[in-house]
Amino acid sequence: MTKFRTLDDLGDVSGKVALVRVDLNLPIQDGAVTDDTRIRAAMPTIFELADKGAKVLLLAHFGRPRGARNSEQSLSMVVGAVQEVLGREVMFVPEVAGDVVKQSIGILRPGDIAILENTRFWPGEEANDPALAKAIAANGDIYINDAFSAAHRAHASTEGLAHLLPAYAGRSMQAELEALEQALGNPERPVAAVVGGAKVSSKLDVLKHLVTQVDHLIIGGGMANTFLAARGVDVGKSLCEHELAPTVLEILAMAEKSGCTVHLPYDVVVAREFAANPASLRTCNVHEVAADEMILDVGPIAVEALADVLKTCRTLVWNGPLGAFETEPFDAATVALARTAAALTREGSLISVAGGGDTVAALNHAGVADDFSYVSTAGGAFLEWMEGRDLPGVSALLA
Ligand code: ADP
Ligand code: MG
Repeated sequence: MTKFRTLDDLGDVSGKVALVRVDLNLPIQDGAVTDDTRIRAAMPTIFELADKGAKVLLLAHFGRPRGARNSEQSLSMVVGAVQEVLGREVMFVPEVAGDVVKQSIGILRPGDIAILENTRFWPGEEANDPALAKAIAANGDIYINDAFSAAHRAHASTEGLAHLLPAYAGRSMQAELEALEQALGNPERPVAAVVGGAKVSSKLDVLKHLVTQVDHLIIGGGMANTFLAARGVDVGKSLCEHELAPTVLEILAMAEKSGCTVHLPYDVVVAREFAANPASLRTCNVHEVAADEMILDVGPIAVEALADVLKTCRTLVWNGPLGAFETEPFDAATVALARTAAALTREGSLISVAGGGDTVAALNHAGVADDFSYVSTAGGAFLEWMEGRDLPGVSALLA
């Protein structure tokens, strides 16, 4: 990866205005923030800049207001939660550009923190309108992007601004980029990828990219059914995208050409109804699934074989659960393999990077999220990175 500037490259920022793009798209229920992970992620960057005497102006979007102001999506809602997490006073500024922002900067002292209004209240944000970026930049001295989760969008606050001011990656962005680089950009080999989840169709580009990059591709979840069916296995009533058989065969051919071994389960956990601990639960060989049964998890023999694969690898990248992990006992394979990966990481033999909304939930469920080398909460941006794409918000930071 080409080098990007970080906060280590900052000169004296005392009294300067730092425009800091963060992720404050927080889950809110009945007016209360229910999860402050994203605030915590932004904390190191905010403190570092504030403690160096910068006036820190936070830029962020919230929801999808589609270019118009509305009271339900004002970032004023998150100010209380941010103050609580930071333990510092935070000013709210109901604009992103213009005189109101300028006057607020006049009131702020070096080291003070303010949150500007939801960037998506202005149509120029998502349109990446140079006029909006210019107006925002006019009040700042430096730009820091600490929101990897928004870096797959070329918006005024994620991309446009980076070209108008000296631009730096924040600490959270830096950590994410370093982890991703270590996992796929320039990894220690052999590399294994686990790809699971519901559907092949949502991760086609991920699969196509990974087979050219990794040594072992482990397929689980509903998408394993689609792979098995494409190979002529009768998967009964399982979730399966039969129409994708030609695409799957193409991916398998690409894998073979690239020297990537694709691992499909050879035993599976099945049931006739999708419910917790159903009476019809059984484990069988993939060739023994009955017409009225569904595959809901990877079987225990396959999990052991997959654990042995991980033991031979130095790097693991994981997206998507191996089974319908929200319902017991279909969490067993995901939990078992995640614990193996966690143990290998603790021993120092594996670098493990995982991401994806349900994947993070599954790793938390297995109690191992903290043992992985890095867990990305970036969602869409993480998947686009797994597809091998350039993320505009990242490219704009490259020195
Ligand atoms: P992520 O959010 O980590 O990218 P996905 O959204 O692609 O993951 O997939 C997660 C979903 O896949 C979960 O809700 C899980 O229940 C479902 N899933 C996994 N295996 C199966 C299966 N065999 N049959 C049906 N659904 C499955
Ligand atoms: Mg999901």
